[in-house]
Amino acid sequence: MSILQSSKSPSAGESLGDYVKRMRLSLGFNQKELAKIAEIHMQSLGKIERGMTTKLSSHSKSGLATALQVPVEYLEAVCRGVPIVAVTQLKFCAPCWTPGKPSEPLWMEARAKHCFLCGAALRDRCAHCQEMVTSLKHRFCPFCGNGYKSEVVAESHSE
Ligand SMILES: [Zn+2]
Ligand SMILES: [Zn+2]
Repeated sequence: MSILQSSKSPSAGESLGDYVKRMRLSLGFNQKELAKIAEIHMQSLGKIERGMTTKLSSHSKSGLATALQVPVEYLEAVCRGVPIVAVTQLKFCAPCWTPGKPSEPLWMEARAKHCFLCGAALRDRCAHCQEMVTSLKHRFCPFCGNGYKSEVVAESHSE
């Protein structure tokens, strides 16, 4: 069994504070900048990083996830202190998935490779940039900005 590990996933035993700080530094933000992007108070961010806050409100969770470019699930996992393997690997069927809706539990089955509805191959990464799909709460890939549902099409130059 291989464990999905990337520099973005929390390491074993990493606390929420350490994780947030590590992600922040890897992006080169100072606390003020991150707090601004995440739309949370700098004081709250300081508390999180110092380990004084171990539970995040859904507002700070989604703000931080967006600002740190990590899936909300990672933050949830690190808050609960559960290994990231338990929550990783989102899979979905691009034709059947409704943007903004969570993935069907049957798509998420570890052994599922094809959609139980239409038989299409399940997808676990962005069709455009090949980054792992991290959260289906977002319709668009946080890495390249393309919609997860969209197939790779010739670039349209409509701006
Ligand atoms: Zn399908
Ligand atoms: Zn992408």
